[in-house]
Amino acid sequence: MRVFFKTYGCQMNIRDSEIMKGLLVRTGHEIVGELPKADVVVINTCAVRAKSENKAYSLIGRLKKRGFRVGVTGCVAEIASRSLKNLGADFVIGTRALTSIVDAVEGKIDLDLSDRLSEIEKIVDMFDNTSRMSQLVTVRTSKHHAWVNIISGCNKFCTYCIVPYTRGREVSRPMKNVIKEVKALSKSGYNQITFLGQNVDSYGKDMNDGTTLAELFRQVYDVENIKRFWFLTSYPSDITDELIEVVAERPRISRNFHLPAQSGSNTILKRMNRQYTREEYLELIQKIRSKVDGASIGGDIIVGFPGETDEDFEETLSLVKEVKYVRLNIAPYSPRRGTVASKLYNDDVSKAVKKKRMAVLSKIQHAIQLEMNESFVGKTVDIIVEGKTGGKSFGRTIDNRMIFLEGDIPEGECVKVKLNHATAGPIYGELVRKVVSEVAQ
Ligand code: SF4
Repeated sequence: MRVFFKTYGCQMNIRDSEIMKGLLVRTGHEIVGELPKADVVVINTCAVRAKSENKAYSLIGRLKKRGFRVGVTGCVAEIASRSLKNLGADFVIGTRALTSIVDAVEGKIDLDLSDRLSEIEKIVDMFDNTSRMSQLVTVRTSKHHAWVNIISGCNKFCTYCIVPYTRGREVSRPMKNVIKEVKALSKSGYNQITFLGQNVDSYGKDMNDGTTLAELFRQVYDVENIKRFWFLTSYPSDITDELIEVVAERPRISRNFHLPAQSGSNTILKRMNRQYTREEYLELIQKIRSKVDGASIGGDIIVGFPGETDEDFEETLSLVKEVKYVRLNIAPYSPRRGTVASKLYNDDVSKAVKKKRMAVLSKIQHAIQLEMNESFVGKTVDIIVEGKTGGKSFGRTIDNRMIFLEGDIPEGECVKVKLNHATAGPIYGELVRKVVSEVAQ
């Protein structure tokens, strides 16, 4: 069969698509990059925001009208399998039943698999299978940068979020399997690894055997050829002193901590069931900056959470000004069916107010990014090239700043770039030289 994938949502979803594509290729199917060439379309969905869920629903309808066989995977498959089948989906596979993709595509299973393999032991089995077969089964998006799941699920239950219900509780992969995968990736020519998890810094908490993200970094840091390690996404109160120390001592681990604050108001944080206060969050940032040379902070903010007053929003603005995020995702609150917030709270901040607050926050963040990026002009930085667009190559610094430079430089190449022009988005520069013998930082 020729299979086309449409993937919505986060890096975890992209990684899930890679695993499913690999399983299909291994069993003789073809992954096609153009929709008209497909026999089957797999829509890997995201339920975090209403917008991407609605996009998936409308896509199913359009594809069915054009006569495609359509399967739905991912988070929406977990929570809305009946609606998906009513819309005409031919199979529905939840996040914990990815390994059924081959049978489903081949039409051997056409029933709803959204809750299959829902028990923890079976999830671990799936991880073991995935790990054992990782190099065989994975069709990776990049040939140089690999995303490696180390923990799935979430135990935090933020009141606005559907993830704990769609991906289940936290389950960590055994460290030996992750190390094996990293070594295999290094042999296949990968030079960047991103460890992934909904709360990547919770890694190992469910194992009680000394497994932690810090220990994983110690174990893999010297694996040959790996020039950079990244980790995504961290939950603020799960960052340990040990992890900060390990990052501080190892210059090839990203200096970027992505720490979603979501709000700067303690009242709102409490309503969101975030397990830290504004003061604790800021203290953590200060600690990271004092220990990790060149640390940068990324973040997420939800604007217009139920009950958010002008004063609450002011608190968020002052937090953003104080932290100075290198990158900030800003989203308006939208109630998600099945979440605690949608049951307990009225969505009482009007669309107009949300829009206005988004604009104010974006403007402030834009100015912060521009000012920070301008301070880099004249400096020379190391990047690993990750792609090309509009005749320019691009890559990121170790603290996660996007750099563009003239020329056609192969992906995966480590280069030194002299920066000469800043915007609030990328910083532009020119190639100084390729890094051959030394390790890019
Ligand atoms: S930490 Fe909160 S926002 Fe993040 S996945 Fe878990 S419940 Fe959702």
